[in-house]
Amino acid sequence: MAKGFSDGIIRLEDVNFYYNKGMQNEMHALTNINLEIKRGEFASFFGSSGCGKSTMLYMVSGIDQPHSGRVYVNNHDLTKFSAKQTAVYRQIGIGLIFQNFNLIPSLSVFDNIVLPMSFLGISKERRSQEAKKILQYLDISNLANRLPYELSGGQQQRVGIARALANDPPIILADEPTGNLDSANATRTMELLRDLNKNHGKTIILVTHEAWCLRYVDRIFYMKDGTVIKTEEVKAEDMPTGETGKGIDEHIKVLNPAAGKLDILAESFSSLLLRGYSREELKRAEYFFKRRIKNELTYAKLIEELDRPFREGGLGLWKQKAKKIADAVEEIIEEDFEVSLIHDKLKKHPNAPLSEEIENIRRWLLEIYRGNLSPSQSDSMDECLGERLRGIISNDSFVKVLSLPKRIGGIGFPIPTALKISDRLDMLLTTNVEPH
Ligand code: ADP
Ligand code: MG
Repeated sequence: MAKGFSDGIIRLEDVNFYYNKGMQNEMHALTNINLEIKRGEFASFFGSSGCGKSTMLYMVSGIDQPHSGRVYVNNHDLTKFSAKQTAVYRQIGIGLIFQNFNLIPSLSVFDNIVLPMSFLGISKERRSQEAKKILQYLDISNLANRLPYELSGGQQQRVGIARALANDPPIILADEPTGNLDSANATRTMELLRDLNKNHGKTIILVTHEAWCLRYVDRIFYMKDGTVIKTEEVKAEDMPTGETGKGIDEHIKVLNPAAGKLDILAESFSSLLLRGYSREELKRAEYFFKRRIKNELTYAKLIEELDRPFREGGLGLWKQKAKKIADAVEEIIEEDFEVSLIHDKLKKHPNAPLSEEIENIRRWLLEIYRGNLSPSQSDSMDECLGERLRGIISNDSFVKVLSLPKRIGGIGFPIPTALKISDRLDMLLTTNVEPH
């Protein structure tokens, strides 16, 4: 048996990997990686662009071999597999999901899903049965005969997920699966991954640079410059759905401890308001947001910058979208001011009544919710908002109250709505916490 036999489904030992090894442009992409992922875990490689996340997936999927070190899958040393064994592992051991969906353009949705099964000698009938089941699970049976170009991005990603499930692999590897999706489809994709993990026993490894995705995972490997700088197990506590209560800024702080309040605020804005944009675009947006917060840009100037073509140093958003984003920034800045006032008030009088402020904040939080609250729901919401503002309850509990059914004292929001609301509130609260 290999040294350090363990119950990890995936284990990397002293892995090093280089691009262009021995050449002038040699790039040490992974340095002494040691880590373990347990069976049934939802793990994530998190870090900024270029830190080696995709390369890590190439190691785990056998696409590339490390120059030194070992990669174990179920205690089998992948680096010692024959070409044939590696091929079998890649066909039935893992399912891959990509940012650009990677569908075969000339094949129908149905055939894209069946294709991975055809290499395995499964009868045509069985293949067809399996594909139908998967289509049904992903709620895309009606798209079976379409070609990829006839689908929206969100639909294409669901086909991408369907294809990854084709041979029922125990491990799913997803490389920035939300990177090209709008926020509704990005959320849906994360929810699907969670369902595959929690209800279908899949071990999932998610590669992402988007901190909001981390609320879905059990274990985070923070990566920087080809190394894992921190591993964190996310305690699901008693949350039925396993969300973490961590604000996105805390994840960002792990990667960049020197980040000040302003950086974190600007990064939070850009990752929340521009979900699905590229790293480069987010960085640029952050810069504009930071300048607006410091009042170096006026509101009108911010719109102008967001609207300016990317090549000319702007963000290339169409005018209406630029305005919408700028408006959201204004609101957050204003609300931030309100929250600072509340904190000052509480500092002087810890038990001071906050009903007026709370009502304002509630109204602002609910702008993203289209329904109406009954008076008793508003009361419950004000109560838990008050407790959250006074620091009595955690973000986790806040989400819980928002999402619990009305009959047991909750408000009854769907979980995605509860999360969006708590994200919004979190963003306000974090602006009032000094970085350590
Ligand atoms: P991430 O997925 O975190 O963005 P990657 O794993 O793709 O990062 O890349 C890690 C580093 O290796 C980056 O600096 C990248 O530029 C470099 N790199 C990636 N692929 C290649 C390649 N085929 N040839 C040379 N360098 C590469
Ligand atoms: Mg990558």
